[in-house]
Amino acid sequence: MKIDWDRRTCARRGHVTYAPQEDVLRDRLRADTGLGEAWRCLRCGDFALGAPHGSGPADEAPLVPRGKVLRDLFILRFLAVERAVRGVFIVLVALAVWKFSNSQDSVRRFFDEYLDVFRPVFRHFHYDLDHSPVVGTIQKTFDYKHSTLLIVAVALLVYALIEIVEGVGLWRAKRWAEYLTVVATAMFLPLEIYELTEKISWVKIATLTINILAVLYILLAKRLFGLRGGLAAFEAERHSASLIEVETTAGVAAHS
Ligand SMILES: [Zn+2]
Repeated sequence: MKIDWDRRTCARRGHVTYAPQEDVLRDRLRADTGLGEAWRCLRCGDFALGAPHGSGPADEAPLVPRGKVLRDLFILRFLAVERAVRGVFIVLVALAVWKFSNSQDSVRRFFDEYLDVFRPVFRHFHYDLDHSPVVGTIQKTFDYKHSTLLIVAVALLVYALIEIVEGVGLWRAKRWAEYLTVVATAMFLPLEIYELTEKISWVKIATLTINILAVLYILLAKRLFGLRGGLAAFEAERHSASLIEVETTAGVAAHS
């Protein structure tokens, strides 16, 4: 099934119309109807009744993401939400570890109880905590010392903050966030592969697959690290898209 991102977005947020100063373009974007004037939407191309939302020179028309660019925005926003949710969850885990590190009682017992609390949750997602090499390593080597647990809590908090910053940045379509996501996600791939060595589960495979695809997708679609022409090509693509936007909507490209 092919999703029409343009029309879906217009249905939710309304059309975007613009009256260019150039007469030729202006005439092509405008129509008179029995109900009054109508203008072509810069996103979906349909005519929308009423006065234009803006006016001015064609090259100052609002940059309306459409087609592939709009689809990329949706995918990155899906990733943004996924990162933010994961980040908040890990903050809670870090707080729990920190709380246990301050406990007078046997920290080991608390950690085990804490695992008991989460075991059903993880089991629901078919993730077996008892056969996780990462959890096992934590249990064996850290010996549940106060100082070690503090380090674990701080490390988790840093990781969570990175995830949240990624989420916010990706949502706002920031290029630095795309770099941060690619580098940070790639850094944790070895850990995810290590998780698969002990016991394979669909959740682990799905997580690993999503993360590998996310890294490749962002790298190529956003032309990071100079790939496919890098930032210059990325900007040029966006720029020509914005010019073509007005021109193709107006049908000028077909006449030149
Ligand atoms: Zn529209």
